[in-house]
Amino acid sequence: MPTQDILVTAPLPPFLYEPLKAGYRCHDHHLASHKPGLLAAEGARVRGLVQGGGTVTPTELLDQLPGLEIISVFGVGYDGVPVEYCRQRGIRVGHTPDVLTDDVADVAVGLVLMTGRGFAKADRFVRAGAWERGGFELTTRLGGRKAGILGLGRIGKAIAERLAAMGMRIAYTGRRPQPGVTWRYVADLESLAADSDFLIVACPGGAATRHLVNAGVLAALGAKGTIVNIARGSIIDEAALVRALESGTIKAAGLDVFENEPHVPRALLSMDNVVLLPHVGSGTHETRKAMGDLCLANLDAHFAGRPLPALIPELR
Ligand code: NAP
Repeated sequence: MPTQDILVTAPLPPFLYEPLKAGYRCHDHHLASHKPGLLAAEGARVRGLVQGGGTVTPTELLDQLPGLEIISVFGVGYDGVPVEYCRQRGIRVGHTPDVLTDDVADVAVGLVLMTGRGFAKADRFVRAGAWERGGFELTTRLGGRKAGILGLGRIGKAIAERLAAMGMRIAYTGRRPQPGVTWRYVADLESLAADSDFLIVACPGGAATRHLVNAGVLAALGAKGTIVNIARGSIIDEAALVRALESGTIKAAGLDVFENEPHVPRALLSMDNVVLLPHVGSGTHETRKAMGDLCLANLDAHFAGRPLPALIPELR
């Protein structure tokens, strides 16, 4: 008989939700038609909360969960969690690093190929019957081109390895040089953009990185440059990005994430030099299952009094 009460604030896939319901008393906050009623009836009993990577958890919600001990995020990004608030209240936060790294890096490479070699446009060309009237336009060789990576963490390194294998030249920026890598560190984002053919965003979202890629960075990237974002929509000033694409300030964009998902700026939908994906970075059966297992393992470890397999670094 499940004993601990868990608040679920995002839709979860069955391979996570079924075992979660078998082990815990789950309360569906995201589906509740009357959320205040649910919180008034169950809030005091709730000891755990499960949310998605993109879910924003306001402190006002957490205030109504006085017995909350752990938030387990189904995702590696936890920019929707008020970490400082959790620290002050002694709430642990678990997430799902590593298990999704390769899949997300694959998507970044896909976006480099799709924008650089025009594959999405070429696919539309064939489907429209245009090939019957002549060949597709020439594109630019990727080997030898410069890839600048913003945030050389787990995913950033996996992207760098893949692009290096394709013959691209790698440099990166972040808050500090990463130990144990030989790729060139550039302290300043604008300088990195100015020296990149592809600027690839792979740092965490949240207040510290909001609109880090702004109009100035896009101007530095310039008309030869393509922006790729597999991290979080909030990191790019999307209005500035639309203007940069409309004016030809930058060459192209490959985007898996957006500021206001699932809403994509209408102007981007008609641009031939833009590739749009619906946040599919970790979207394979294998990886989502591994993420679900780790999300559950974090919760189980907490209630068994064991260390979390993946506690977020700020709370270690
Ligand atoms: P990670 O290992 O923590 O790497 C993040 C990197 O960003 C680190 O190199 C970090 O280096 C750097 N960084 C942190 N804060 C920064 C700042 N303020 N300015 C510049 N650089 C900063 O995380 P990861 O596992 O690679 O994941 C990265 C992000 O990818 C996640 O946070 C998530 O939002 C996103 N993601 C997206 C998808 C998708 O489906 N598209 C899937 C998974 C993850 P320093 O700490 O040394 O600065």
